[in-house]
Amino acid sequence: MADSAELVCFECELVLPLGDFDRTDDPSVIVTGNGPGAGDPVATAALWRFLAEHVYHRVELLGEASLAWERIGIDFVRIDGDIVGDPTLREYAEGAWAGAPLALRPRPVARAVGALVLRGQDRRDEGSWTAAPGDRGVLAPLLPLLDFGTPADVLVDDAAVQARLALARAAVAGMEGAVRRGPGADLLDFLESCLRVLVPALAAIGPDDLRVTPGSLAPAALFDVERALRLIQDFHGRDAGQ
Ligand SMILES: [Zn+2]
Repeated sequence: MADSAELVCFECELVLPLGDFDRTDDPSVIVTGNGPGAGDPVATAALWRFLAEHVYHRVELLGEASLAWERIGIDFVRIDGDIVGDPTLREYAEGAWAGAPLALRPRPVARAVGALVLRGQDRRDEGSWTAAPGDRGVLAPLLPLLDFGTPADVLVDDAAVQARLALARAAVAGMEGAVRRGPGADLLDFLESCLRVLVPALAAIGPDDLRVTPGSLAPAALFDVERALRLIQDFHGRDAGQ
């Protein structure tokens, strides 16, 4: 059976694909697009960089059937992925990934909201999440407000930061509005739990957190809240109710 191997750091939320096993009779050779991985200089450099960067972190080596994939959501960055802003393998290997200083910083708000999303997903999977008839109508005006996908490597100035902060505040206000529209008990509990994380996190972002020099990466606290909001949108389906 063909398979693949990927290294995942659960602390940095970073995935490094190593390659595939395409010879079912010889699973000892990992193959990249350039042949055996051991002879691929870019893949080899990326692997050594990953190992050096993530010593002491919780790193796992996953195959396609690994159950841990269920815990890996869209907040994880995939090296050589197909999302705008994902680093190429060469950018990662050469330390030329412009967004790394922001993308690899801890995101405590997204982590907390991600835990709520995982809990909700588990309940959906086991059939214990009850969707009320009015939930789609509650979510319809909210989901477009949660559309945060700006890559980490986008450079900002003060005006851009203020505009993004205003959108994050509007999204949280939208969640508060959704609570007032009377969702079912499970959606209400989910939204209120998320708001207990997001409202104080937004309130704690002060002028010092937002100060940037033009052409720098976005403030980490703001990026963290944006990623948390995107997790909520992803959980409820960005097109649901539209
Ligand atoms: Zn790490």
